[in-house]
Amino acid sequence: MTRMDALIIGGGVIGVSAAYFLARAGVSVTLVEMRTIAAGSSWGNAGLIAPNHSTPIPGPGVLRQGVRWLLDVESPLYIQPRLDFDLLRWLWQFRGFCNVRALDRAIPRLRDMQRASLDLFRQLIATEAIACDFEDVGGLVAFRTKKGLEAGVAEAKHLARFGLKTTLLDADAIHEMEPALHPDVVGGVFHEEDAFLTPHKFVFGLADAAQRRDAVIVDDVGVQGFEVAGGRIVRVRTTRGDVEPDQVVLAAGAWSTALARMLDVRIPMQPAKGYAITLPRPNPSPRRYVIFGERNAVATPMGDTLRLAGTLELSGLHGRVHPRRVNAIRKAAREYLILPERMPEGHVWQGLRPVPPDGMPYIGRSKRVGNLIVATGHAMLGLSMGPITGKLVSELVQGLPVSLPLDGFEVERFGA
Ligand SMILES: Cc1cc2nc3c(=O)[nH]c(=O)nc-3n(C[C@H](O)[C@H](O)[C@H](O)COP(=O)(O)OP(=O)(O)OC[C@H]3O[C@@H](n4cnc5c(N)ncnc54)[C@H](O)[C@@H]3O)c2cc1C
Repeated sequence: MTRMDALIIGGGVIGVSAAYFLARAGVSVTLVEMRTIAAGSSWGNAGLIAPNHSTPIPGPGVLRQGVRWLLDVESPLYIQPRLDFDLLRWLWQFRGFCNVRALDRAIPRLRDMQRASLDLFRQLIATEAIACDFEDVGGLVAFRTKKGLEAGVAEAKHLARFGLKTTLLDADAIHEMEPALHPDVVGGVFHEEDAFLTPHKFVFGLADAAQRRDAVIVDDVGVQGFEVAGGRIVRVRTTRGDVEPDQVVLAAGAWSTALARMLDVRIPMQPAKGYAITLPRPNPSPRRYVIFGERNAVATPMGDTLRLAGTLELSGLHGRVHPRRVNAIRKAAREYLILPERMPEGHVWQGLRPVPPDGMPYIGRSKRVGNLIVATGHAMLGLSMGPITGKLVSELVQGLPVSLPLDGFEVERFGA
């Protein structure tokens, strides 16, 4: 039996960031990962650190659009039709957050998290010398239609009300800024505050830095259960024996809901699958990330590669790849970028975003289980909010005042 101050479950960007900040504070910390570090959604995501996209998944119009897309296999949002009561309950709760009031409550919270996180990315990458193709140069949303552009301009104006810096670009301006755009692009929005990087390189680099500070990080160890006494976890059962940590940090991404359920803690989430295709960097290549406005997909330059990513598929907790949906991303890329006629197939990847019904993360100490800290549910913004979440977890474990307010992120906000 091993004792430690803190046990972290899950080796994605959230768990690794927590391990780093805890080790830096001198806390004895062990992280267990059931596969390998960054094997979950933290490996192949689009790599955006995007304060300017501080909007949660539910929003006004999302449901209307979603219903239109519902059964179209190639649409950006796909719900596999099935009788699943957790999914139905989640959709019902999600519906309650598809309005302007919920959106306007969420934006400043997500903006502050992402801005604080971007500052930490800059510091960590510099001080720990993490080679991860970090580019602090902003990004673009490009549109091919007048209607799309109008919607993009309206969204940019809405974000500007919250102090987010956006610049509207007409056709000439956007093509001058990004010559690799397809001639049919009619305009777009420049998001100057944003940055991007190669996500798995960042997570590996931060894990190394945590280990240099004595964090213990172990692959191939899965948590299987808990023993609770007096409202506290007294023992954690793993595939390699039991451990007795003082505090447990649940950072298992889309798998966290089932683990929390073993502790009678309800953190409803749906795994929302997305795909990425990583290609050798074409010539010409965009210099910044480019979001395909009408298609909800993105191209991100990452060192000598270009990654295309997108789709949101609610089809359960599994890793099956839907080739038609992957091809829809390839097709979209050809509509927005000048790409060589013949392109290699590239490396195809899928990942599961952990998505709560209100699109806001769960970060905090459980009321039900005294020594449980939950850090998950970051949906589309988990990379972006990774370092700040790790810092907050470290503060919670140490009983220090937190550097950002946690209201809106409460663990048991959907009931005990
Ligand atoms: C296509 C796509 C594009 C995206 N683009 C962006 C983007 O541009 N910017 C952004 O900020 N976010 C993006 N995201 C979202 C982002 O990837 C996630 O929010 C983030 O990676 C979540 O990190 P995590 O650490 O919570 O989960 P994960 O990375 O999934 O890590 C959880 C880990 O826990 C492990 N685990 C699970 N159960 C157990 C257990 N019982 N015992 C031990 N270990 C366990 C898993 O193996 C896994 O490695 C994207 C996601 C996708 C799918």
